[in-house]
Amino acid sequence: MARYTGAVCKLCRREGKKLFLKGERCTSSKCAFEHRSYAPGQHGQARKKNSEYGTQLRAKQTARRYYGLNESQFYKYFLMAERQTGMTGENLLRICESRLDNIVYSLGWASSRAEARQLVTHGHYLVNGKKVDIPSYLCKAGDVVAIKKASLDSDKFKAILEKVGTVPAWLELGDDNTAKVVDLPTREQIEVPVEEHLIVELYSK
Ligand code: SF4
Repeated sequence: MARYTGAVCKLCRREGKKLFLKGERCTSSKCAFEHRSYAPGQHGQARKKNSEYGTQLRAKQTARRYYGLNESQFYKYFLMAERQTGMTGENLLRICESRLDNIVYSLGWASSRAEARQLVTHGHYLVNGKKVDIPSYLCKAGDVVAIKKASLDSDKFKAILEKVGTVPAWLELGDDNTAKVVDLPTREQIEVPVEEHLIVELYSK
């Protein structure tokens, strides 16, 4: 599936907020947004009046870029969210959070969602004891995610595991480099910086 391969810091600058797409660099003084917190391009510093459509579009793009999804994937999740009971916007974010690459990132087992996606693709993780190399795999409450034993010997994973800190309340670290999805997150537990009702309004036009 096609994915964005351009300069990711431009995405943060376009959305006017830090999306934390580059791992450790995002919290360092090298973060591009800290130096140029305006939109990229020749007219990036021009004053703009945001229309209703523009505001909704930016909310959708922010969420999509935050999770590293392309338009068709994101819209597919919106249609899934609509079919579920409850608030469509919250359902949409919950689906994005339940992706395996997002869970790996949330556990601190990768420095960014992009790295998590790559590590999943390379087959370093198990779900309920079976290798899963599909970043978009949607985990459910009760699933147990683990790092493959053979991967633990690599310097990469030794460095990753040294840095693992606290994890979100809906995930629980276990023994032997395993983690359980206790429950899917509530809206309060999801940190994506968007008002999800704007995305629903945009797609409902
Ligand atoms: Fe965004 Fe990270 Fe780049 Fe800063 S370093 S602009 S937070 S991707």
